[in-house]
Amino acid sequence: MKAAKAVKPARPSRRAAVPKVGFVSLGCPKALVDSERILTELRAEGYIVAPSYADADLVVVNTCGFIDAAVEESLDAIGEALAENGKVIVTGCLGAKGSVVKDAHPKVLAVTGPHATDEVMRAVHKHLPRPHDPYTDLVPPQGIRLTPKHYAYLKISEGCNHRCTFCIIPSMRGDLVSRPVGDVMQEAENLVKSGVKELLVISQDTSAYGVDIKYRTGFWGGRPLKTKMFDLAAALGGLGVWVRLHYVYPYPHVDDVIELMADGKVLPYLDVPFQHASPRILKAMKRPANSENNLARIKQWRSVCPELTIRSTFIAGFPGETDAEFEQLLAFLEEAQLDRVGCFTYSPVEGATANALPDQVPEEIKQERKARFMATQGKISAQRLQQKIGKTMNLLIDSVDAEGAIARSAADAPEIDGVVHIAPHASLQQGEFVRVGIVAADAHDLHATVV
Ligand code: SF4
Repeated sequence: MKAAKAVKPARPSRRAAVPKVGFVSLGCPKALVDSERILTELRAEGYIVAPSYADADLVVVNTCGFIDAAVEESLDAIGEALAENGKVIVTGCLGAKGSVVKDAHPKVLAVTGPHATDEVMRAVHKHLPRPHDPYTDLVPPQGIRLTPKHYAYLKISEGCNHRCTFCIIPSMRGDLVSRPVGDVMQEAENLVKSGVKELLVISQDTSAYGVDIKYRTGFWGGRPLKTKMFDLAAALGGLGVWVRLHYVYPYPHVDDVIELMADGKVLPYLDVPFQHASPRILKAMKRPANSENNLARIKQWRSVCPELTIRSTFIAGFPGETDAEFEQLLAFLEEAQLDRVGCFTYSPVEGATANALPDQVPEEIKQERKARFMATQGKISAQRLQQKIGKTMNLLIDSVDAEGAIARSAADAPEIDGVVHIAPHASLQQGEFVRVGIVAADAHDLHATVV
């Protein structure tokens, strides 16, 4: 879980009585996009986003409720906002968890679930009436964003049709609802016009885009366009910026998207949360595509697009996981040679059906398995980074200072993967692309010089 995002102070207004709203945004990129929508609406209606609790007339806290640690962090943030400001509206995943918020903090003004911009705005209007000033209605077409100017998350759907037994997201966010493809493309185009160089496509299951509306044909730029992952990825690829796909499951139809990567239309990067390698555990998890042969699929993808970077996450110590099944997971890692991997120990989330499964794994065994997993993968990731020494590549620069620049290659998604450190050079500019040669590698990052 991520820490609260600082929201940049708005430009000071010359008008004395403009209402000011403070904002705290917690959680994953999907929650971040919800925050951006609420902030966009607030600014569109003329509210000012306050830089501190003391400056705000009320505070909105967008919460995360995915695991117990996130619930605690969210409840603490609400408590802090109440103590510092007193008028607090709560939204986000924790808000969908029944009375948890009201029980802990009875003084909050209103509580909504995730992706509830309209409800949040109704609550804001009730407690802080909207200003009537047409001159404040000056919101840029790309909306208000919490990411740096050069990259942006593009949320293509809400909710999820799967029912993974360790997850409560569908009960919080509902079934899959795909956004109209024309709207998604319009938003992407506005983002690119505003200077975005990298679009990060997010959802709960990007490979399922459009399945809820039978891949309906929409329109963009006067041309028909299907509400389908391949068609969307191809259209996004035509915008001339980096397009990175997150949360893709290993279904056969993903093979077509790999062709787009091989053709350079979409970044050769796939974020595929495999979660395990044992067919029995994957079935017990009720994972999407659990009957697919993932190793064969990875080999096939790499034969089409050898430069493909694969990121994934796994769970160690899922209920009933035997020693042999864990060994199977380690053997999968050795064979699959994934580039970027995260591992969590199984943690029971309130309301998840996996909590009732027999043979829960003791905590110390979970931790031991996670450590073995990370040691195995650590060597693989480091070796794969070593193989990049001597190569030249294009990077997108995230920041520049006296020590050089921090940048990312096609293989590095912001905030979750490693980075490339570039030695100082006059041409380095934040948000711009640069061509470099890789000169060294450590466990997670690369080091480069401008060529
Ligand atoms: S795919 Fe599974 S883990 Fe992901 S949101 Fe849907 S139910 Fe949860």
